Amino acid sequence: MPRKARDIFVKTLDTLLPPRCAVSGEIIDEQGMLSSKAWAGLDFIADPFCRICGVPFEYTDGVEDQGAMMCMSCMEKPPLFRAARAVVMYNETSRNLILGFKHGDKTQLVPVFVQWLLRSGGEFLGEVDFIIPVPLHYLRLVKRRYNQAALLAHGLTKETQIKTLPMALKRVRSTPSQGHLSAKERHDNVKGAFTVGLKYHEMLKNKNVLLIDDVYTSGATIKECTKVLKKAGVNGVYVLTLARVGRAER
Ligand SMILES: [Zn+2]
Repeated sequence: MPRKARDIFVKTLDTLLPPRCAVSGEIIDEQGMLSSKAWAGLDFIADPFCRICGVPFEYTDGVEDQGAMMCMSCMEKPPLFRAARAVVMYNETSRNLILGFKHGDKTQLVPVFVQWLLRSGGEFLGEVDFIIPVPLHYLRLVKRRYNQAALLAHGLTKETQIKTLPMALKRVRSTPSQGHLSAKERHDNVKGAFTVGLKYHEMLKNKNVLLIDDVYTSGATIKECTKVLKKAGVNGVYVLTLARVGRAER
């Protein structure tokens, strides 16, 4: 649709159905924006956080060099990925926001999310050659009609000109929902669920990639994707998600 026609279309829609906040349902002034109540409920991740996995620290009293901080878990066993960052903590507000985006067709939020991702993952953009979204299994894709991680990846490409490879990583096995599983069960659940298309191996060899997903929960999915990407020849994997679970004490 030409821009002008689209503007009129959106305006008409706005008059018929005032845009509502994606979290609280309150009426708001502009399509895609959030109400002040939703803003207040979002817990944006800020320094200090682990330089590797991005987990924010609960207590930082007495820590001198905050720029070099690592959490206990990364110190004991560094993850396969180079570094991970997330925009907000996974709480009730961000959960509702992301569920609406995943299942409720709230795709008007993509430009807002992309701006958040750019802010939180800006330090990775100079390092990576490609952007790769965590894939859905095609059966789930048919049901949902879009892969939310791929929408975010394409949004990032638009802003950065870094190419997205939406088909490089494939989910070869449909995995049951992980909501109720323990960390160990999640790990087993995703084992062997992903593969990198053979024709991408040459393209990805010794390259750095930015892996995109909506939520970093136990890290099982991210770790499995990182493993197969590295096996396919990728040099460094950077991870960027909208939300993440957990805080680290220090
Ligand atoms: Zn860490």
